[in-house]
Amino acid sequence: MLRSRLTLAAVALALFAAPAAAQEAPRWSFAIHGGAGVIERDSLTPEQDAAYRAALHRALEAGSAVLAAGGSSLDAIQAAIELMEDDPLFNAGRGAVFTAAGRNELDAAVMNGADLNAGAVAGLTTTRHPIAAARAVLEQSPHVMLIGEGADTFAASVGLEQVDPAFFFTERRWRGLESALRQQNLPIPERPVGAPGPMAANDLPAPPLNERKFGTVGAVALDSQGRLAAGTSTGGMTAKRWGRVGDVPVIGAGTYASNREGCAVSATGDGEYFIRASVARDICSRIAGGSTSLTAAQAEVDDALSLGGTGGVIVMDTEGRPSFAMTTSGMYRGAVSSSQPARAAIYGDEDLRP
Ligand code: ASP
Repeated sequence: MLRSRLTLAAVALALFAAPAAAQEAPRWSFAIHGGAGVIERDSLTPEQDAAYRAALHRALEAGSAVLAAGGSSLDAIQAAIELMEDDPLFNAGRGAVFTAAGRNELDAAVMNGADLNAGAVAGLTTTRHPIAAARAVLEQSPHVMLIGEGADTFAASVGLEQVDPAFFFTERRWRGLESALRQQNLPIPERPVGAPGPMAANDLPAPPLNERKFGTVGAVALDSQGRLAAGTSTGGMTAKRWGRVGDVPVIGAGTYASNREGCAVSATGDGEYFIRASVARDICSRIAGGSTSLTAAQAEVDDALSLGGTGGVIVMDTEGRPSFAMTTSGMYRGAVSSSQPARAAIYGDEDLRP
């Protein structure tokens, strides 16, 4: 299993340099991520770099259109994440990584900070938009988490689009699976039924085989009614086995939002560590205890990932201040608010101030 062992110091970036008091809080605010990992300037071609930035801007635009029109933080998160789920650049929906058995098993969660209601799904194989399924669990079921076939059945029963599993296939992720399985001396499964032939690559050229971009997607939002929300969607880890589920659908690990505590969090990285450290909930507790969101995010990522693994988080506070913290050299990320234009970043040293 691929696992990065970076010793990089954690990097944290605040979007606004001025103290909070010096700025009027935005009416609404929105931030996204598209996964953290070893993403350095020489690991992306100029075309790939531009494609990721354009994809981040499309997602920011989708979220801000909802929020600027007075829509809810949940709707903004769903709109942005659905776009990223359809985009093969990211490890969510179409373009998700494969299990060792050659399947795409998709996890997602969403949480409404206003009432602490949450919905999560794990191991979906036919629902086009896992984030919509998580939202439906939140709003249309008495439960918080559904898994596997039952979760797909529930999603279909509430009218969510079902697709052939081959819809999620991309050549790039298949090659990533082959490489991971070879490293682990595991057998390479047959290409999924319905997948295009090996020569018909349907996305960007395969990236270098040492790439460690995870590609999970997530969003955090504060809407004009002051409601915080968080959502995350992922294919999990390449070559996962035995029904492995990561942190994304575990409420409090990879996804959490609470107006009471004043935060919304979406994480990305080696999920096992995020689960063990209850990262998302812990960040909220730190904020409730008086930490700024940036300090809380940074301290939590440092502490949690001292257990092992790498990753990052995005955090939104009740003042609409987004914060980003990571232990990796990069994280696809972006932010926009009623008072700041959309901006996107990839590498750890990029400043997101407008
Ligand atoms: N956190 C995800 C998982 O462990 C993977 C990722 O964010 O890249 O399933």
